[in-house]
Amino acid sequence: MARVVIAGGGFAGLAAALLLARRGHTVTVVERDGPPPGSTPDDDAHGWHRPGAPQSHQSHVLLARARRVLADEAPDVIDALLARGVREHPAAAGAGRLEGEYALMSRRLVAEATLRRIVDREPGVTMRCGDAVVKVQVSRAGDVPVVNGAHLLSGDLLYADLVVDAGGRRSALPVWLADAGLRPAVDDSQDCGFFYLTRYYRLRPGCDAPPTKIPGSVALDYATVLAFGADNGTFSLSMTLSVDDPYRRAFREPDRHSAFLRAVPLTAPWMKVGEPISDISLMARIANRRRRLVDQNGPVAGGVVALGDAALHTNPTLGRGISLAFWHAQHLAQAADEAAVDPVGFVERFDSWTNDNLGVWYDTQVAADAAGIGRLEAGLRGERLAPVDDPMARFVAAAFVCAQDDNVVGDAVAKVVHLLAPPTEAFGDPAVARRVGAFLSTNPDLERPADTPSRAEFEAFATS
Ligand SMILES: Cc1cc2nc3c(=O)[nH]c(=O)nc-3n(C[C@H](O)[C@H](O)[C@H](O)COP(=O)(O)OP(=O)(O)OC[C@H]3O[C@@H](n4cnc5c(N)ncnc54)[C@H](O)[C@@H]3O)c2cc1C
Repeated sequence: MARVVIAGGGFAGLAAALLLARRGHTVTVVERDGPPPGSTPDDDAHGWHRPGAPQSHQSHVLLARARRVLADEAPDVIDALLARGVREHPAAAGAGRLEGEYALMSRRLVAEATLRRIVDREPGVTMRCGDAVVKVQVSRAGDVPVVNGAHLLSGDLLYADLVVDAGGRRSALPVWLADAGLRPAVDDSQDCGFFYLTRYYRLRPGCDAPPTKIPGSVALDYATVLAFGADNGTFSLSMTLSVDDPYRRAFREPDRHSAFLRAVPLTAPWMKVGEPISDISLMARIANRRRRLVDQNGPVAGGVVALGDAALHTNPTLGRGISLAFWHAQHLAQAADEAAVDPVGFVERFDSWTNDNLGVWYDTQVAADAAGIGRLEAGLRGERLAPVDDPMARFVAAAFVCAQDDNVVGDAVAKVVHLLAPPTEAFGDPAVARRVGAFLSTNPDLERPADTPSRAEFEAFATS
């Protein structure tokens, strides 16, 4: 059994703590932010101060992969989420439907607070709130240095067999490594080039929510618009705009924001049935980033791994982060026995597993986003990029359209959307490839939806 210190009590840190403790490991979670404040879901969603996770007020959905991890490891968490008003939504795409698989729809902080309260009660987990890991303690007894503890802001030193960095997108791991005189992590990153604006709404009495779709987004030439149902009759609407858009500041003004969302077919029906319950929250500095603690010479140290967003995060419009974090946490818990016995080998194997199983989602996202940045740049000029000509990109784009009426292709798309099979496996199925190929041969033009506001109309909203 291992003694584990986890820096960060967001989704990754909390899931890891729970799953590790349930396998008999002794866990301390150090979390900079305070606990959830109140008793109602609204208190959790809008009253919990979470500066350590600035994306907390943005739209979130937990895809079927996240729910599958919970179903396998901690079904009581699903029960508690549902009791708190979180909704299950079938994992479907167009005509496809994955039997027994569901997404969970919730304001992020409602789901996080529910998980947090379960972890607080879990024997084997100690939560240290309002403190932070500021440095790692390193032993140099062997050939490779081994992290064997964490120094806290409070001055305490916690010894551990394994220190887990679950500090999210803004993790300070590079600083810890540098301060300890260790080799740097290997980072790969790419700015996404856009920022988010999100507002939450509640259904008006007597109104029903429009059908939720996952992915609940539409890519315009100059923006992406998202709609997600959430817990307890709430929902969120988001837009992402290029960081270079000269009109980027205009849509923080509620009337313009509302007018624009009423003009987009995806969000128009939601605007009819809801009233705002939050301000418009902004989130910038969005990037894809992968951080590895193994370079060409092997692990930079034993006894330390990065988990969840600290290890890898991708463009959030696809809603993958929590699923990747839970999956990562599940593997950590399954493998953690080795951490106390072989701290260096453990780091190497954990890195390989992460790369083999989660890396594919990073790689495909980076490739897709390169095209997305081109789309936004053209959109700012009021231009529309020509339909993609890369065969693989055309195939994937066609699969999403084809999925609307074809249940075989729909199932494949749903597996990819919900992270249940990588694209090569889901789309490599001969039946899927044949159907998408036939669709492409009769529908060579993969145009974007036509009835969305043009760039000129968008600019008119911005200056109204
Ligand atoms: C705009 C936006 C929308 C998103 N939408 C979705 C979505 O729909 N679905 C989805 O699955 N994912 C979504 N994500 C991604 C999701 O937010 C993250 O993937 C998820 O929160 C990862 O969890 P984490 O625990 O790794 O990091 P976080 O949730 O960011 O938690 C990190 C925690 O570590 C703490 N911390 C940091 N450093 C220290 C330290 N040194 N000591 C102590 N504590 C520390 C912080 O206070 C914080 O609580 C979205 C992200 C963004 C930016």
